[in-house]
Amino acid sequence: MTKFKTTMDVFKLLEKTNCRKCNKPTCLAFAAAVFQGQVPLSQCPFIDETILKKYGSQKLEYESAFEQDYIKVLAQLKDRINQIDLASRAEKLGGKFSNGRLILKIFGKDFGIGKNGEISTDIHVNPWIVPPVLNYVLSSKGLPLTGSWVPFRELETSRDWARFFEHQCVGSFKQVADTNPSFFRDIMELFNGRPVQNHYDADISLIIHPLPLVPMLICYNRPEEGLESDLNLFFDTTADKNLPIENIYTLSTGLANMFKKLAKTHG
Ligand code: SF4
Repeated sequence: MTKFKTTMDVFKLLEKTNCRKCNKPTCLAFAAAVFQGQVPLSQCPFIDETILKKYGSQKLEYESAFEQDYIKVLAQLKDRINQIDLASRAEKLGGKFSNGRLILKIFGKDFGIGKNGEISTDIHVNPWIVPPVLNYVLSSKGLPLTGSWVPFRELETSRDWARFFEHQCVGSFKQVADTNPSFFRDIMELFNGRPVQNHYDADISLIIHPLPLVPMLICYNRPEEGLESDLNLFFDTTADKNLPIENIYTLSTGLANMFKKLAKTHG
């Protein structure tokens, strides 16, 4: 792994748009923070994977800060869960209340949320899924689905996230599908993806349910002679009322990145 020698070594790798998506006021401030090991290079969403691999050693210094932030956020969410009546939220959230726990179907599997915000289920719980689930419990408006699908960028509150969503999420799903379309279909079905016939004339159209009231429609067209492949993600028009937009982003990119990792293991 290569180590940065100066802040400018980091700065040279950045887009220099000062877009603030990394939570720093400028690209230079971000570069300084990366050089000092306060944040990871990957916090700028425009850095491509080959560069991240090359400078991967920076990540270790950051991880403990990230973990601490994560633990703090989680503690706050759990504290808020502790103050609400889970039983009265169950029906609104498309779940049920049983044995003191709110039960939600997540990717078709039962997840139980206890009074203290702890999540229990038969399968491994990935860390990226926990904040969106707890935020869903806390802030979903529980609007019924309209059955009308729109891309992420057309969700009312998506403006600040749309560009990153294309880059980080759609791009990752497409990479997996392009590399191995049958693996892509299999993995989606493993996550309880339900095929939909001829949706948008796509070769593969599946609906998955990361949360009961936040379904996701994935449509993929294989490349054909003279035409590139194409992948689109759609959400119900109520999605950002039923889950804050940043959590839709986290959930979708978490899933896409996990598929990418599984695809690598699969070969
Ligand atoms: S996200 Fe990247 S491009 Fe945007 S300000 Fe931060 S470092 Fe610069």
